[in-house]
Amino acid sequence: MATPAIFMDRDGTLSWEVGYVNHASRFHLYSWSVDAVRLVNRGGFRAVVVTNQAGVARGYFPGSLIGEGHAALRSTLEAGGARLDGIYVCLHHSSVGEPPYRADCDCRKPRPGLLRRAEAELDIDLGRSWVVGDRISDLQLAWNVGARGALVKSGYGRGELAYHAPASPRPPDLVAENLLEAVERIMAGGAGG
Ligand SMILES: [Mg+2]
Ligand SMILES: [Zn+2]
Repeated sequence: MATPAIFMDRDGTLSWEVGYVNHASRFHLYSWSVDAVRLVNRGGFRAVVVTNQAGVARGYFPGSLIGEGHAALRSTLEAGGARLDGIYVCLHHSSVGEPPYRADCDCRKPRPGLLRRAEAELDIDLGRSWVVGDRISDLQLAWNVGARGALVKSGYGRGELAYHAPASPRPPDLVAENLLEAVERIMAGGAGG
């Protein structure tokens, strides 16, 4: 039977929003992220990261840095007893760089390609799933596939809530201080279960 997922944005949600992470030294997990992912694991949801990394298309850093960073992310989480079921990355940009990274792809959030791939590969029930992120576009991603969207106030979240949420066609399904609070409230609500 298909399983619901909590899709987590990376920068500003799991890790500090620092602009482009063009060196491993700029990648820092928030202090609550290990606890949040462990709670997702124990709650019976798939834990999946979905992230746009157009810095590769822009030529700011090599694609290999993404893989190295995500290996370090996994090992840090695993040291704390937390596990990611998948990490899905869009490396594209529609108008800068060179092919194959310069592409009008179907996977740059809020387009649904990353979620559709996860749905197929991890047998996910999108209708019972959530996307947690610090941008309204992360919520739009959720709504584009019939999932629900939680906005966190970390990263760009406070500004998005103040200046972009009012113009959004739909209010956030949940607003939380950070990823841990979002996951706790999703679990407590029996949402998706
Ligand atoms: Mg973000
Ligand atoms: Zn893409």
